[in-house]
Amino acid sequence: PVAPAANFIKNIVEADLAAGKHAQRRWCGQPGTAADHAAAPLDPAKIRTRFPPEPNGYLHFGHAKSILLNFGLAETYAGRCHLRFDDTNPEKEDQEYVNAIIDAVKWLGCDWQQQGESNLYYASNYFDWMLACAEYLISAGYAYVDSQSAEEMRASRGTLTQPGKDSPFRTRSVAENMDLFKRMQAGEFADGTHILRAKIDMAAANINLRDPAIYRIRHATHHNTGDKYCVYPMYTFAHPIEDALECITHSICTLEFEDQRPFYDWLLERLAEGGLLQRPLPQQIEFSRLNLTYVVLSKRKLIQLVDEKHVDGWDDPRMPTLVGARRRGYSAEGFRLFAERIGVSKNDSLIDYVLFEDAMREVMNESDQRRVAVLDPLKLIIDNYPEGQVEECHAPNHPLHEELGQRTMPFSRELWIEGEDFQEVPQKGFRRLFPGNMARLRYGYVVECTGCDKDENGKVIAVHCNYLPETKSGTPGADSVKVKGNLHWVSVAHAYPAEVRLYDRLFKVPAPGARREGDAPDIERNFLDDLNPDASRSITAQLEPSLKEARAEERFQFERHGYFVADRVDSQPGAPVFNRTVTLKDSWGK
Ligand code: ATP
Ligand code: MG
Ligand code: MG
Repeated sequence: PVAPAANFIKNIVEADLAAGKHAQRRWCGQPGTAADHAAAPLDPAKIRTRFPPEPNGYLHFGHAKSILLNFGLAETYAGRCHLRFDDTNPEKEDQEYVNAIIDAVKWLGCDWQQQGESNLYYASNYFDWMLACAEYLISAGYAYVDSQSAEEMRASRGTLTQPGKDSPFRTRSVAENMDLFKRMQAGEFADGTHILRAKIDMAAANINLRDPAIYRIRHATHHNTGDKYCVYPMYTFAHPIEDALECITHSICTLEFEDQRPFYDWLLERLAEGGLLQRPLPQQIEFSRLNLTYVVLSKRKLIQLVDEKHVDGWDDPRMPTLVGARRRGYSAEGFRLFAERIGVSKNDSLIDYVLFEDAMREVMNESDQRRVAVLDPLKLIIDNYPEGQVEECHAPNHPLHEELGQRTMPFSRELWIEGEDFQEVPQKGFRRLFPGNMARLRYGYVVECTGCDKDENGKVIAVHCNYLPETKSGTPGADSVKVKGNLHWVSVAHAYPAEVRLYDRLFKVPAPGARREGDAPDIERNFLDDLNPDASRSITAQLEPSLKEARAEERFQFERHGYFVADRVDSQPGAPVFNRTVTLKDSWGK
């Protein structure tokens, strides 16, 4: 991956490297405790980062920021980045999501196979270690079984200004706690009857340190461990342990976890004191999450869009998911460029969607071959061109890359042109076809418009012209007649009529669901009301014949229109269907 531009996280990493903070760290080739790693050689990786998705949904654009940051740091600093499924929550997780996440990470060009290491992990494989950690905390007096109801626990937690109250079960003996916890594991108790809590300080200013829950009873089947366990660790307990077992050096997460950092550190310190985890311990570093205008980046809302069928599934090209992006035609390199441009900081910000699109345009302008497509076909008849005659015109595949060669486009008496390229009564400044005006048919001839045919309603159904035979592009006479207008075309007899989907932004306002200026105080908005009803439109376009052979996922610039991709789901060999990825210029709202 492209290294992210200088940022505060890089500064931390560089300072740690300069100080040799992790130089003595050992790595036995897989996750393990201090004892497992003790006899192992020094870790060949200078740093270790991780991307830890919970397999409870599809990845979205925000996750791409995190993926590219973590894999990018590992690449820049001779480290490794682990892909770890944070699958400690039995109820919502599913293999379908695991597979989709693996595909998306690969699609972004990130690889957990690094220098002979395969760093793909499942947090659920650490459940035994986590239980051992919990039992150690009990034995050292750092954890207790609380048997209050959830209601009572909530009530005794206190508030920002009020300290919490100790649970009546807080003084249970180590032996009693251990016995109860063993019986919780053995399945003796119903969900919610007991919970294991860290014993820290019910008066702590940080509410997250008021004896947080670390293990709960949940009689549920887990997608990886089945029915083996009926107690599951809380995320805030599991995550630091996962990091430490994997020898993660820099554990990067989004800002909402800042208040959890003291517990993260507290827990790892206790477990390192107990000899369970290797030092130096991982350091949690928070950065601001990606927020983008005109989309929503929250799994919960994305699930709602899919479940309520506001879109056609997770991979709907309008969706800000990575499967959606891929189908839409956005490129992984475009995501890299975008991530590099927005950088990494601690300031919450809302990034303009235009920045995302511009990064895509920039990459695609460079990478995509040009083709011709007429999206709103209008027939042009060249009255002085011999009927039945066909000749070849030559069009460069890429104006910036001569080495990509040319393709031939058949030219004949009847062509499709874009409806907007003819005006019977021209507006001021209009330079394309109108009666009496001359314009160039790109890669072909200069033509002079002579008139048009209309149907009984006055609608223009064909345009007439004469061509100037000496003006063919690429011949000495090409410049003999100067014209201002330039239009694209495809030969009627040779065109490939195809379904083209014109996608636009999913929401019609920058901050879907947010209150707007002038809203009455009692107004609550719903993001669904801000959906853009015109975000998907299907048309039949006339494409140059070579596009018939386009393979699924092949992307092109359709000249004057934008970037289009052959849909990876609906395209058939010899019959591709195209999706508009993005227009050439930002025309939103115009
Ligand atoms: P959501 O908040 O949308 O429900 P999540 O945070 O629950 O997503 P996880 O699977 O837990 O999803 O996230 C995996 C990683 O991706 C985490 O490290 C998380 O911090 C990061 N991440 C999630 N959303 C964003 C975002 N908008 N910008 C940057 N990183 C993100
Ligand atoms: Mg989550
Ligand atoms: Mg989240």
